[in-house]
Amino acid sequence: MACQWLKSIDVDGETWAVKLVTTKQMEKVTGQDKTSDRPALGCIAYDERTIYIRRNLSEPQRWSTLHHELMHLALWKANESSEYKMKLDQPAEELLLNRLDSRLYRLLNRNFGFGPPE
Ligand SMILES: [Zn+2]
Repeated sequence: MACQWLKSIDVDGETWAVKLVTTKQMEKVTGQDKTSDRPALGCIAYDERTIYIRRNLSEPQRWSTLHHELMHLALWKANESSEYKMKLDQPAEELLLNRLDSRLYRLLNRNFGFGPPE
């Protein structure tokens, strides 16, 4: 049976959409084009309260991409509600999250059933 992918999530009482999109749609959302050397697997439109994830990913990739985007969201939310704003430029934020997210994902996957079993 195919897993039903979630369409929205609750973030501090707000409803955020989770949309699976084609590669073309992702290029439109991110402004990247085919020539990008690191095409985005996912992204967040904070003003639309929407997380975009490429639909042509494997199930484990979808979940790890969702997890990565959730970390961006958590960081953004933490900054929004804090007096002390962390000023990370985009490459620094990616570096930070890429160092953390696979480890945290593995912990959540193995111990709490987040995403499909490895
Ligand atoms: Zn990212």
